[in-house]
Amino acid sequence: MSNSPFNLTGKVAIVTGANTGIGQGIAVALAQAGADVALVARRDPAETVSMIEAAGRKSAVIMADLATTEPCERIIAETKAALGSVDILVNNAGIIRRNDALDFTEDDWDAVMDTNLKVLFFLTQAAGREMAANGGGSVINVASMLTFQGGIRVASYTASKSGVGGLTKLLANEWAGKDINVNAIAPGYIATNNTAALQADEDRNRQILERIPVGRWGDPSDLGGAAVFLASDAAKYVHGHILAVDGGWLAR
Ligand code: NAP
Repeated sequence: MSNSPFNLTGKVAIVTGANTGIGQGIAVALAQAGADVALVARRDPAETVSMIEAAGRKSAVIMADLATTEPCERIIAETKAALGSVDILVNNAGIIRRNDALDFTEDDWDAVMDTNLKVLFFLTQAAGREMAANGGGSVINVASMLTFQGGIRVASYTASKSGVGGLTKLLANEWAGKDINVNAIAPGYIATNNTAALQADEDRNRQILERIPVGRWGDPSDLGGAAVFLASDAAKYVHGHILAVDGGWLAR
């Protein structure tokens, strides 16, 4: 692996929402490819720490609530202090609120837009300043099928993830010349806490499975290869791309 363009040895990644689900899957994959990883979480990511240790890499735990922009600068500073640099940022933390558009509340709008879009932007700004000063880096935003589609009963989630797609392209335009790659991964239906309600709903679960060409829900580990690719030198000429990892969902 040492000469492989996918090798991340010597790089430091920040992964938000790294205690569980897709964030855990991506953090472990980056570590397996050689990166040390700062795990940003509001609950103890002990399980992810052990998985990174098992991969033979270092981790740092940064406790932060990403409901507001308050911890953004601290996350960058603590990562540098603990692991030495900031080369990769994976903006994974996100929430969803479900309600009919006619009944959707301002609270459900603000909570989702703040974490999924506003804090994502300002954390990326803080990381981008660091990367620009140090010769480059990679930003990977976790988007969604609802970056491309409308969805139903998830107004703020669709707005936020459509916004993530737009920001990915805007930041790529502004930062490609600074050797910072900004791209996104759009997961399909992945079995995590975020989709527990859908998995438990027999009708919705059947409808979803019938539409996924590969015929199964994704696992968080299914996102790992895409993240390693976008974080690596193999993707040096890839800018502003939104890579679907969806078992074929969008091809239907
Ligand atoms: P998940 O298991 O619920 O994980 C979400 C992560 O974000 C958790 O670590 C959660 O922390 C963290 N988080 C949420 N709000 C936070 C806050 N205020 N401060 C700090 N951390 C916060 O769901 P997931 O499916 O892995 O979701 C990860 C990302 O993938 C999200 O952006 C989601 O929108 C996106 N996504 C998921 C799917 C899917 O099918 N699962 C599909 C498309 C996109 P806690 O554990 O403390 O809540």
